[in-house]
Amino acid sequence: MSSFNFDVITLFPKAFELINNLGVITRALDKNLIDVNLHDLREYGEGSYRQVDDKPYGGGAGMVLKPEPIYKAHESIRKSSKSKTLLMTPQGKVLKQKDLVRWSTLDQIIIICGQYEGFDERIRCLADEEISIGDYVLSGGEIPAISIINGLTRLLPGTLGDPDSLVDESHNSSLLEYPQYTRPLIFKEMEVPNILLSGNHEQIRLWRERKMLERTLDRRKDLISKVQLKNLQSQETDQKVLNHLILLEIKNKLENYPDW
Ligand code: SAH
Repeated sequence: MSSFNFDVITLFPKAFELINNLGVITRALDKNLIDVNLHDLREYGEGSYRQVDDKPYGGGAGMVLKPEPIYKAHESIRKSSKSKTLLMTPQGKVLKQKDLVRWSTLDQIIIICGQYEGFDERIRCLADEEISIGDYVLSGGEIPAISIINGLTRLLPGTLGDPDSLVDESHNSSLLEYPQYTRPLIFKEMEVPNILLSGNHEQIRLWRERKMLERTLDRRKDLISKVQLKNLQSQETDQKVLNHLILLEIKNKLENYPDW
């Protein structure tokens, strides 16, 4: 058995063929670091038509997934002691990098994918967590599930070629990553910043730190409120005041970097 198992309940198992062509995940499957077990909801359907959906009580458009097939599919999955069940729904908590990090210490994730107009309310109690991948509505939970499998797998030891690449990246520290460059030195008259050619590691580190702060301030002020600035941490401080102080602190900090 692999060290991490994904068990997915879905009406469209074929959608998961994509993960066989996604670089990091393909490698993790090849190395037996993960297993993706697909449970075709249709096989748990009722009657000779293997019915999995029905019209909503009270009327309204579309079809709703029935509770019994999802329950049966969920029951049929062997659960390990470090297992969680995630329900894909646009009504769930919006997925964050810290969730993926948190789940990476488990050894099994069971994912329930909805379809059509959604699912019968009574399957919600199967879920340890209800997860949305953003404030928009897709036609099914398969792409959200693949996003979770992808994001979590690249955090598992032995998956990424270079574990250091996890350290600086966006959302790890709540700051967005600094700009990256590779060859050529000049591309369409756009040059690589000189500091990156200097070989001065401390200056490069500072330049990157500054860019991370600038970039986050510019694009995602909302993330900055979560930056842990030791001297500003106080549980009693009102969050708005704290956010304001953090912004000021960062603006001050930016003034103290060298001008490369
Ligand atoms: N009528 C439902 C949406 C149904 S969309 C509602 O308003 O809540 C059909 C299925 O796609 C959902 O059951 C869910 O499993 C999946 N889905 C759609 N958008 C999603 C999102 N942003 N995050 C996670 N799952 C989503």
